[in-house]
Amino acid sequence: MDRKQFLSRSLKASLGALVAGPALANMAAGTTTPEGEGAGGPPTAVPPAPALQLAQVPLPYAYDALEPAIDAATMEIHYTKHHAAYVKNVNEAIAAEGVVAKDEADLLARIGTFSAKVRNNAGGTWNHNFFWQVMSPAIGNSHPSKVTDAINASFGSFDKFKETFTDAAMKRFGSGWAWLVEQDGKLAIGSTPNQDNPLMDVSELKGTPLLALDVWEHAYYLKYQNKRNEYVANWWPVVNWAAVAERLR
Ligand code: MN
Repeated sequence: MDRKQFLSRSLKASLGALVAGPALANMAAGTTTPEGEGAGGPPTAVPPAPALQLAQVPLPYAYDALEPAIDAATMEIHYTKHHAAYVKNVNEAIAAEGVVAKDEADLLARIGTFSAKVRNNAGGTWNHNFFWQVMSPAIGNSHPSKVTDAINASFGSFDKFKETFTDAAMKRFGSGWAWLVEQDGKLAIGSTPNQDNPLMDVSELKGTPLLALDVWEHAYYLKYQNKRNEYVANWWPVVNWAAVAERLR
C-alpha cells in the first residue's frame, strides 16, 4: 500500500468510526472524490504533505575565526543578515506558492519550474550553508593526499588549479559564485551567476560541489572594497580541505 492509499484508507476508517454530524459530513464531502469522477476510483484529495522548510546551518566557528582573510564584521552581517534573509524568504515563498518538493536536492534539481523568488532564495540558502562548511580557521588546513591527487590529475598541479579557480572568481561579472565540482570522477572549475549553483537544472555548470567561493560584493566589500583579487588571494588559507575531501568520491 502506498502512502496515498494508506492515508485514504485511514481517513475512511476514522470517519467511519465517528458518528456523522453536519460538520463531519462536510469534512467527508471535502475529502472524497466528487460524484461522477470515476466511480470506484481512489479519492483524489489527500491531506497535503507538510511544506518543505529549509534551514540555516549553525556557523561552525566564531565570526572572527577566519580573520584576517574574512573580517568579523563581514562574517556577522553575511551570516545574520544576508544568509538569514535567504532562508526566511525561501520558506515564505515555498509556503506562499505551494511549492511541493521531496527535499532540498529535489527542489534544486527542479528549480527552473519555480519562481525567481524561490530560485534566488533557495540558492542563497544552500550556497551559504555550503560555503560556511568548506572554510575553517587557517591553522592546520593541510591538503589531504586524496584532494592533492585529484587536483593534480585534473589540473596538472595545485598552482594551476588555484590559477584557474581564481580566474573563474575574477571573471564572474557582477554577483555570483566560483565552484570546484566533480563531474563523473573528474574535477572541473566554473562559476554561476547570482545564487545559482551546479545542483540546479538551470545551471550551465553541473556537478557535485566540492568547494565554493562567494564573489558577491557583500562577501568582501567592507574589508577589500573593489579589490576582489585580494579577497580571493587571501581566502586560500581558510579553505577547509578536509571538508573538500569528504565530498570527493
Ligand atoms: Mn553571500
